[in-house]
Amino acid sequence: MSKTLALTQELISLSSVTPEDKGCQARLAELLAPLGFVCETIQSGDVTNLWARKGTAQPLLVFAGHTDVVPTGPLDKWQSPPFVPTQRDGKLFGRGASDMKTSIAAMVVACEEFIAANPGHQGSIGFLITSDEEGPATDGTVVVCNQLKARGEQLDYCIVGEPTSARTLGDMIKNGRRGTMSGKLTVKGVQGHIAYPQLARNPIHQAAPALAELVAEQWDAGNEYYLPTSWQVSNIHGGTGASNVIPGDVVIDFNFRFSTASTVEGLQQRVHAILDRHGLEYDLKWTVGGLPFLTPRGTLSDALSSAIKAETGLDTELSTTGGTSDGRFIAQICPQVIEFGPPNDSIHKIDEYIEVRHIDPLKNIYRRTLENLLL
Ligand SMILES: [Zn+2]
Repeated sequence: MSKTLALTQELISLSSVTPEDKGCQARLAELLAPLGFVCETIQSGDVTNLWARKGTAQPLLVFAGHTDVVPTGPLDKWQSPPFVPTQRDGKLFGRGASDMKTSIAAMVVACEEFIAANPGHQGSIGFLITSDEEGPATDGTVVVCNQLKARGEQLDYCIVGEPTSARTLGDMIKNGRRGTMSGKLTVKGVQGHIAYPQLARNPIHQAAPALAELVAEQWDAGNEYYLPTSWQVSNIHGGTGASNVIPGDVVIDFNFRFSTASTVEGLQQRVHAILDRHGLEYDLKWTVGGLPFLTPRGTLSDALSSAIKAETGLDTELSTTGGTSDGRFIAQICPQVIEFGPPNDSIHKIDEYIEVRHIDPLKNIYRRTLENLLL
């Protein structure tokens, strides 16, 4: 049996639902230590993180990912138990099969093969593994990144093993992710009897023209790598439930998915300017969920793209679509971060799977990338 397939199955059988790691990282460390990696567990709250490094020279190429998985959902909906890796019809089923235990296994075996064939390779190799990616992500990668920064550890390249392929292995890699920022806007009026509007002030009427302007606003035009920033209202709440009362306030929740063509401060200022121009009395609370990051075409994306081409014959597409990932934290301490992993059509679903024919090619792509960067 393929070594990567065997290790993938081993990891799937450990039921590491966030923030549990269930011994996955200890197993990885057991495999990495004999290869020359110095392995360190960084515990934060109930989250287990692994930092491993082989060598002290630059450049440092880091493989990053998570051992935790999302909950299974109703067990009786699964065709086979989610933590019993099971092969059917050329697919390996199990929670974490595509997000992202196969990637982790492939990264480890790729290093094993690369180091065995090239004991005198240049630079260093690192692993940054967390068990808190699918949860609040407050005790995971961000904690390790802060520690590495404090120690002056210099990362040059990072490959995050998130499932980024779309239709087939290698057709898409992510060289950035949009940022996310939410706002909770409370527009204040004066409550009163609906028959005496002159004695009240209707906050819904006052907010409506400002809302129309916010909806129509073009925040930016995007750039070479990003679609334009989008602004969406998610909830509006106003009114007492009675039909004869003008409400005292209206609460509007909205969210920005923003590109690197805009900044947090710039977007906030523009929202305030529109609200102020309409003379609203309001309160606005901001929550920045994640900053955008971008790795322009360069050494790392070229190394990965040519590895994909050599292994699969495909010309991979660079994309910045999708939700946020831990790449946003790593990008704060590493100039080039690219995400690449298997197809993502079954992630977080019942009967999550990976096609068995993708497992060894994924490992080969990681190994070829090591060859492209460290030989
Ligand atoms: Zn993931």
